[in-house]
Amino acid sequence: MTDKCRQATWLSRIADSILPRACPCCGRALAVTDTGICLPCLLRLPRNDLRIDSPGLEQMLGSTGIPKGPLRSWFRYSHTDNSSKIIRTAKYADRPDLARCMGRLFGSELAAAGVGPDAPSPSAIDLLLPVPLHWTKWLRRGYNQSAEICRGIAEALQCDTGNALVATRAHATQTHRDRNQRRMNVAGRFTIDNPSQLEGRHIAIVDDVITTGATMAECAAEIRRCGANPASLGILSIGLTL
Ligand SMILES: [Zn+2]
Repeated sequence: MTDKCRQATWLSRIADSILPRACPCCGRALAVTDTGICLPCLLRLPRNDLRIDSPGLEQMLGSTGIPKGPLRSWFRYSHTDNSSKIIRTAKYADRPDLARCMGRLFGSELAAAGVGPDAPSPSAIDLLLPVPLHWTKWLRRGYNQSAEICRGIAEALQCDTGNALVATRAHATQTHRDRNQRRMNVAGRFTIDNPSQLEGRHIAIVDDVITTGATMAECAAEIRRCGANPASLGILSIGLTL
């Protein structure tokens, strides 16, 4: 254990004795060695072998004409499963630290699976782009959970993050909308700032949860529309309901 790690562990112990951290999934107190969620909940996550089996998303990415990068998701998202509390807490409970921590755990599993900046295509990723929040929503929440997830993944993969994707307008909540309604709701919502920064990069768009894929489709379509020329285009998400 390095001096820095030892110091961090002692600081965690002192912080835990003052204000014990709780696992967002089960509510039990976290051990000093736990990161974000407790070990039993981490082991119980309904993982999906880091796969996104969605012909619709594959077809959508194919229609951009950009070579396909990795399509990876960490676990199946269900409102009725305790694991969904990870996403809800990271998003709505002022916990950007939890979002980043989950990104780091997801990223370390991606790295172990051979995804990263040094991997050959189609597993290469060297630039992560979070799905952006409109600034009015950012002001209300104080952070963009997808950007925090992005930073955590980037720390694990040792790759760059960018802010080329920009939300041009706020949109109403996607909850309780079907696929077509969601697509209409996000149509024209994004733009690309300085498309040349994507030139030749192996990029992946990062979101917290993919439900119908409408947001990802709109982001990918905008990357194509703006004339950006990345080497490949992938998709990463913590949760997946598809
Ligand atoms: Zn737990």
